[in-house]
Amino acid sequence: TKKYGKNNYTVYSRELDTNTAYKLSIERDLKTAIHQEQFTLHYQPIKSIKTGELSAMEALIRWNHPVHGLIPPDHFIPVSEESGQIVSIGKWVLRESCKQNKLWQDLGHRPFKIAVNISTIQLKHQNFVFIVKEILNETGLDPKWLELEVTESILMEDNEILKGVLIELKDIGVSISIDDFGTGYTSLSYLRQFSFDRVKIDRSFIKDISHDLNGKAITSTIISLAHKLKMGVIAEGIEDEIQLAFLKEEDCDEGQGYYFSRPLPAEMHKIP
Ligand code: C2E
Ligand code: CA
Ligand code: CA
Ligand code: CA
Repeated sequence: TKKYGKNNYTVYSRELDTNTAYKLSIERDLKTAIHQEQFTLHYQPIKSIKTGELSAMEALIRWNHPVHGLIPPDHFIPVSEESGQIVSIGKWVLRESCKQNKLWQDLGHRPFKIAVNISTIQLKHQNFVFIVKEILNETGLDPKWLELEVTESILMEDNEILKGVLIELKDIGVSISIDDFGTGYTSLSYLRQFSFDRVKIDRSFIKDISHDLNGKAITSTIISLAHKLKMGVIAEGIEDEIQLAFLKEEDCDEGQGYYFSRPLPAEMHKIP
């Protein structure tokens, strides 16, 4: 291995360079991405596990970068959170999603919710509730068809202001779910402080269902806990029939994953 040591190092450092260059270009190019209309939304169905009916679509952002092509959100959402750009990006996502759901309704589809990911930075922004109201007004979408997905980390910030924002949002008729449930430093006592509408079990637990008894135990425990607290449960990342059968047996309410559909542009969904 010594023989190739130098070569390996060269490759390694070059990769490192490209990586840094990539990150820097992302930071720089984010500034113009909104105005140049480079963002796009893909939608992934959330279905009732009992009936198979479509209950919601989750909006997932992609960045159509002129050089790098389609960039996944994990590559730029954290950067945009650090710089504060998530506030305007998030506003764009919310507006586009509400507009799209209203469009689906106007096309005569049986109504379903639109689920939108909201970063904690957005919730902390003082105008957030106002922005939501404004967008609902502007698009004509009934608030009951909008669900905001917030992450568990929001529960950790023992913050009265954040709790107040969530209450205001519920008051205008918007529903709230906890995303990636089980991955953060959950303390069950947080769940008592605010009543969420739904809990989304993180994909990592669903992945373990087929081959791991612990995955099964954790999943069924989250489902019964949520039900006891009068919250609905969505399982994310369902990829096969074994997982689906288990979730059905455990009374999970809704499911989402490649087994049903990958996230796709709005016009590619065949909605009954
Ligand atoms: P998330 O909210 O947990 O979204 C689910 C992620 O899992 C999505 O990745 C989705 O494409 C992927 N996924 C869905 N079903 C399956 C499956 O069956 N198998 C596997 N392996 N993956 C599946 P995506 O679209 O890359 O999004 C990643 C994360 O980026 C999201 O995780 C969310 O936290 C964040 N994100 C996406 N769009 C937005 C946005 O508009 N605003 C904010 N703040 N965050 C967003
Ligand atoms: Ca989500
Ligand atoms: Ca998430
Ligand atoms: Ca997740």
